[in-house]
Amino acid sequence: MPLRPYAQRLATSAGHHPFVVGTLGTLLTLVVLAISVLTLWANRETAIEHAHETSKNVAAVLASHISRTVDSADQSLQMLITALDKPGIRNLDPEVQHDLLFSRTTSAQHVTGMGVTDDKGRLVDGCCSTTHQWDFSDRDYFFVHRDHANVGLYISAVYQARSRGGVETIALSRRMNRADGTFAGTALVAIDLDYFKQLLEKLDVGPRGITAIVRIDGTLVARNPPPGAAQKFNLNKSLTFPRMVNQESGFYVAPSASDGVLRLYTFQRVPGTPFIAVVAPAMSDALAPWQRLSWIVGLSSVSVSLAFCAGVWLLAFALRGRLMAESHLRELTQTDPLTGLKNRRALDVALENEWDRLQRNDSRLSVLFVDADHFKRYNDEHGHAQGDTALQYLANCISKHARRRGDLAARYGGEEFVVVLPDTDEAGAKQIAEAIRTEVEATRTAIGTRGLAPFTVSVGCATARRSSFPSLNALTKAADDALYAAKRRGRNCVDYATTA
Ligand code: GH3
Ligand code: MG
Ligand code: MG
Repeated sequence: MPLRPYAQRLATSAGHHPFVVGTLGTLLTLVVLAISVLTLWANRETAIEHAHETSKNVAAVLASHISRTVDSADQSLQMLITALDKPGIRNLDPEVQHDLLFSRTTSAQHVTGMGVTDDKGRLVDGCCSTTHQWDFSDRDYFFVHRDHANVGLYISAVYQARSRGGVETIALSRRMNRADGTFAGTALVAIDLDYFKQLLEKLDVGPRGITAIVRIDGTLVARNPPPGAAQKFNLNKSLTFPRMVNQESGFYVAPSASDGVLRLYTFQRVPGTPFIAVVAPAMSDALAPWQRLSWIVGLSSVSVSLAFCAGVWLLAFALRGRLMAESHLRELTQTDPLTGLKNRRALDVALENEWDRLQRNDSRLSVLFVDADHFKRYNDEHGHAQGDTALQYLANCISKHARRRGDLAARYGGEEFVVVLPDTDEAGAKQIAEAIRTEVEATRTAIGTRGLAPFTVSVGCATARRSSFPSLNALTKAADDALYAAKRRGRNCVDYATTA
């Protein structure tokens, strides 16, 4: 008989190892899941990168807007100083001079005040009320210019404008000198913080995002949404603030010191000013579209993976069940139902295989023919059922003694059995034959062989080496002949075939 096809053997081994199939399927699923997770993670990074890029653009727009405003206010300042320097204008009637210098200043929407102080800080003239003698000598811009000749344009800290009911304001100021270079006073332009607030309100950075303009000393100029009482702190104390001061522009992710919300901070210095434009969308807003996508992709990947995994395991177990059933069926076709030994068909296959193997190897192959003595009579005396029990006992006895690897015990037919003993010489065969015979003989004397009536067997043996028998048939015939010789000798004995 040919060897079992490779595919069938493979399937059988897979059937024995459904865990291999299941585990492979599970591993595959895990790999797919890992790829999904990595892809989602990469998408998250891209979403953050995108939010950063957008913030960078918004911050640049904000910075350039502020820069332009400061430039135009500074031009007004310089024009005012130049005009005041001209003797023709200085010597004009104060009312005419006021009209000339300050009547058009408020045309610039963001400029809410303009004025000139003397060297004591007193307001000399301005676009606001001049009926009151305002004293600005306590303002930072006044003493900065008084004490330093070369400050140029100075942008003040936030203060409450006295002349305009305490409105929060910053001043852009320049020093005015007398002809001899000594301090003559300051010229200033005031800009309400509302201007900055309105600027920020125009920028959309998501529902929980923040935009802010911060001074490098850590004071907040404007913020959208407006800061609550608790948030009006000095940023100087914030751990992340020094990064903003030390770099022209930058990006970092940190929880907000004011409300604990994780934000993506993009900041940019406004050139020529002490201001930093800060754009900080909340991480949760920046990642919201990504999160929605992740839920969809994640849930579908997990459910598809689980379904796939479950399918693989179900298939593996179904395959195993089927292969085991097939193997059981195959076993049945090779088994004798009464004794459980191999049947005649399996015996023929085993004999052929061992014969072929003998032709390749220089070994021995022994064959035993075991036949119950006077079994017809036994049946007659004790009944067919008792006969069956005796045959089962004999089969059990034979397989007990032929249990080396490769040994095979089969029911040849009726009350006749054949034992195939590969790699077994005459002496070994004789030993096994005698052991079987002796054990069966013991049923005569043994008490309690489960009600078995005693009987005996005769055994014929033949042992082949590579060239001692011309064919397999010759070998089995020799064993059969030896069995008949044993019968003739009086039964309950073992006979050996004489090899050619
Ligand atoms: P010998 O010692 O010469 O072998 O005599 P024998 O009676 O054993 O030989 P024979 O071939 O004349 O008879 C074999 C008997 O074995 C015939 C049959 O009643 C019995 N037999 C064969 N198969 C079975 C079986 O499956 N069950 C039972 N109970 N008996 C069987
Ligand atoms: Mg017989
Ligand atoms: Mg017989």
